[in-house]
Amino acid sequence: MPTKHGITIFFVPHNRKDPLSVRLKGWQVLAAGIIFGIALVLFVLGVVFGGRSTRIMAENRAIRAENERLREQRLKIIQLERELAGTSELRRWMLEMVGADELAQIPVMTAGVTEPRLTAFFDRPFRSRLFPEMEEAAEATRRRRDFVPRGLPVKGTITARFGEMDHRFLKPHSGVDIAAPRGTPVLSTATGIIAEVISDPVLGNAVEIDHLSGFTTRYAHLELISVKRGDWVERGAKIGTVGSTGRAEGAHVHYTLLESGTPINPINDNKIAQEG
Ligand SMILES: [Zn+2]
Repeated sequence: MPTKHGITIFFVPHNRKDPLSVRLKGWQVLAAGIIFGIALVLFVLGVVFGGRSTRIMAENRAIRAENERLREQRLKIIQLERELAGTSELRRWMLEMVGADELAQIPVMTAGVTEPRLTAFFDRPFRSRLFPEMEEAAEATRRRRDFVPRGLPVKGTITARFGEMDHRFLKPHSGVDIAAPRGTPVLSTATGIIAEVISDPVLGNAVEIDHLSGFTTRYAHLELISVKRGDWVERGAKIGTVGSTGRAEGAHVHYTLLESGTPINPINDNKIAQEG
């Protein structure tokens, strides 16, 4: 029964049996064509996008691995930064606590065991390499400070303060009187050069030291003088002994501090108790 539209497909077996025929009507051919077309499109899309997504997934895996590696590195860096900050903080704290110049004297002990690495850290040459400018600054400061008079030349009792009216001379007291037993050592309050050694009816045996920093100190009424003009004295060096030579009532040192030739108070009055 022929049809106007349509096709007939023959399947001819090789063993020469009767061929199989399939008749397809026009709309069936069209439907088969459409289905084949859709399948072809889906197949192509699958190949293209499937391949692409496989590649993207591989790339994603690589990126995730890289991210993980970077995260670990970042954690390591943060950890190092913390350790470094801790070390600097400790160093700063120690320097503050003891002063840069005393750091060398700190004994390093860790639970009774001397740790060689720690010892090396506090080793002076090592520190000098690590903070050369700090070492130099500390040394310079230490040196400068030695030339600025500090404290009093003898331990004793303050019997007359700076600026008090001196009734014997009818003028303000130019220094501080410190009473102490005869023979007590009198010490230089700063490093300098002996500028004058005098024997005066008023001051008695007296010494003047030029501290080469704008400061001069005078020590009067001494019993004995153990330095001569031009001698170099370090801070704390003995220059003589307490006496009552000149116009003095009882054994004491009349100590005068001058800044650019003008007498100034050698002590902070609030500190008399400690200084005396
Ligand atoms: Zn005096």
